Amino acid sequence: GDFPIETDTVVVGAGPGGYVAAIRAAQLGQKVTIVEKNAWGGVCLNVGCIPSKAVISSSHRFQEAQNSEEMGIKVENVSLDFSKVQSFKQSVVDKLVGGVEGLLKGNKVDMVKGEAYFVDNNTMKVMDDKQSQTYKFKNAIIATGSRPIEIPGFKFGERIIDSTGALDLQEKPEKLIVIGGGYIGTELGTAYANFGTEVTILEGQKDILGGFEKRMTALVKRNLKKKGAKIVTQAMAKSAEETENGVKVTYEAKGETHEVEADYVLVTVGRKPNTEEIGLEELGIKKTDRGLIEVDKQSRTSIDNIYAIGDIVEGLPLAHKASYEGKIAAEAIAGEKSEVDYIGMPAVCFTEPELATVGFNEADAKEEGYEVVTGQFPFGANGRALGLNKSDGFVKVVARKEDGLVLGAQIAGDGASDIIAELGLAVETGITLEDIALTIHAHPTLGEIPMEAAEVALGRPIHSM
Ligand code: FAD
Repeated sequence: GDFPIETDTVVVGAGPGGYVAAIRAAQLGQKVTIVEKNAWGGVCLNVGCIPSKAVISSSHRFQEAQNSEEMGIKVENVSLDFSKVQSFKQSVVDKLVGGVEGLLKGNKVDMVKGEAYFVDNNTMKVMDDKQSQTYKFKNAIIATGSRPIEIPGFKFGERIIDSTGALDLQEKPEKLIVIGGGYIGTELGTAYANFGTEVTILEGQKDILGGFEKRMTALVKRNLKKKGAKIVTQAMAKSAEETENGVKVTYEAKGETHEVEADYVLVTVGRKPNTEEIGLEELGIKKTDRGLIEVDKQSRTSIDNIYAIGDIVEGLPLAHKASYEGKIAAEAIAGEKSEVDYIGMPAVCFTEPELATVGFNEADAKEEGYEVVTGQFPFGANGRALGLNKSDGFVKVVARKEDGLVLGAQIAGDGASDIIAELGLAVETGITLEDIALTIHAHPTLGEIPMEAAEVALGRPIHSM
């Protein structure tokens, strides 16, 4: 018989949204059950953020080994052991997945492997290969994440691959076509270009990495081209045909039809929320046209005791957003007044150079009706950046004119993914240009660049004219 198990809060999905929500709910005294049908850690740890950054770092080392003559290093016979790249990547993933399991156990979260399905507002069934188990819950947090979108003419298979496939290739491809110049396509395109693959990026829009300022994406494009990658914008991918040992892709650009051949075609044109087949229709949970779950500022769905977080709700599909919402949902369940506020949420693209943004950029701030001042400082005028031989890029801060309140910042440059944290803190806590300028930053560091940019915005730079 299927005797129902009673619990306070069930969490469906153990990605960065779900596992963080489960831990926070347990910390707040809830009896928590987390259900995962696939791997602990979700997309982010297993086939997303973590493995992609490991592969990108490997590719970067390979590139640096061949291009450090300017700094007096000449390496001969640099070679690539791609299977080692894969095993390094996997070892990083395994460590972190083990860590998440340990944390869930340590917080006494009941961990259940299986596929969850909602029966009603307080009942869920979990199916594994053998059996079905019913759970009775007071509250639920849905964190089922997203999956790659398939486009017509490009059915995923041996040679037509998604990001998961691209991170799991056993050999370095000679040629790779990337359809979609968003975060994922550009990051993986950069990685393979570093490994020496001939990369062609086909982007439907006017530019790759829409959402970042033109000046930032221009640096990424220049760098990709230097690596030999080809970028075709306003390209319409039409179809793909598997050949004997590769794939032929047909696309249209500027009214002409083109054909390109490659070992693989990676399709990264966006992701689709996993909101079907979990019983939400029966519950009557409200969804948008795109299949996202509608939530309020506490991550609560149209059903009072059911919450939704991460890639299945509105906003940028990023891991730190999922985790943030997970904490809010758990706190809301515990009766706290927590609400989401995305103003200090950064977005980072791990290209070369890295791109990062937080808060408003200049155009958006003006559109919101702010009178703004901005300050920019180039990496090329920073001693540390020069010593690292990474002088490409800049930091731009955007502030409210009347009082210097920091509204946002954009960074293109080496280490942008880390430098953005200070500016996120600035935006979140509501500090001013003066505060950043007055903070003593260690010398010589890339961390000085935001300080210099603040001084520029204040009209009194020391290290620029
Ligand atoms: P997911 O991580 O998708 O986890 C959802 C989990 O729910 C999955 O494990 C799934 O198996 C499980 N599940 C689904 N349905 C059920 C069910 N019915 N029952 C039980 N379990 C179920 N983001 C960043 O912030 N930085 C990056 O650098 C970055 N790089 C990325 C690179 C790639 C290649 C990809 C694909 C994504 C990347 N992302 C990155 C995005 C990031 O991975 C996602 O935003 C994040 O994983 C979303 O977290 P989530 O908790 O909402 O869902």
